[in-house]
Amino acid sequence: MQWTPKIVQRQIHARDVSEPNGALPSATADHVWGNVASKRLTNQHKDSAWMAIQEGLPVRAFMHARGLNRYKSCPRGCTADETTNHLFWKCAYTQDLLKALSTELGAWIPTPCITADLVMYGLIPGSHAFRDLQGCWRLLCCFKYVLLFSRNRLVVGKKDTSTLGCRKMIHSLLCDYAALDGSVDDSNDETCRGPLPTGTLEGPLTCCLFFLFRA
Ligand SMILES: [Zn+2]
Repeated sequence: MQWTPKIVQRQIHARDVSEPNGALPSATADHVWGNVASKRLTNQHKDSAWMAIQEGLPVRAFMHARGLNRYKSCPRGCTADETTNHLFWKCAYTQDLLKALSTELGAWIPTPCITADLVMYGLIPGSHAFRDLQGCWRLLCCFKYVLLFSRNRLVVGKKDTSTLGCRKMIHSLLCDYAALDGSVDDSNDETCRGPLPTGTLEGPLTCCLFFLFRA
């Protein structure tokens, strides 16, 4: 057999073992890690999805447990600890943003199917079209990325971001994806609302990771 790079890569991947996640049944590990490593996501969104599942985001509860932060409560005024699950699901701000995105999410899946497992892991009960699942997961990864950005902007920059502002950022990220796909004319796409109004967002999204380690 001639060892081409593709064959070598296939041999290496054949020995891959999915790491189980303590919060999930082992049978779902392959599916979850497949979602996180989806080729339809940018590297930044893969990173934030992976860190969320690994409980590795430097949210307040994580930092407090390691003696790196005085506070562990949610910076948005909730009495609950700021855990990854709180940031991406339980927080009232998060639920408000989900409601604001009900039209966008509803284009892919019915609203009752939106659960914490779907947001965190891309797990959804019942059978759905592959295209819908992929579209929904991409939207939710943009949602998590923007939530993290707005949270870091609040903690580090002391600047609040409205749910409308977050929704516009998500639209902007979806426009980037549409441009990457090359399948949608941005000027006619309903999800593309053009540039953000002045003052809606100060600084590019790319400074998100910069904020991550200073929170
Ligand atoms: Zn909260």
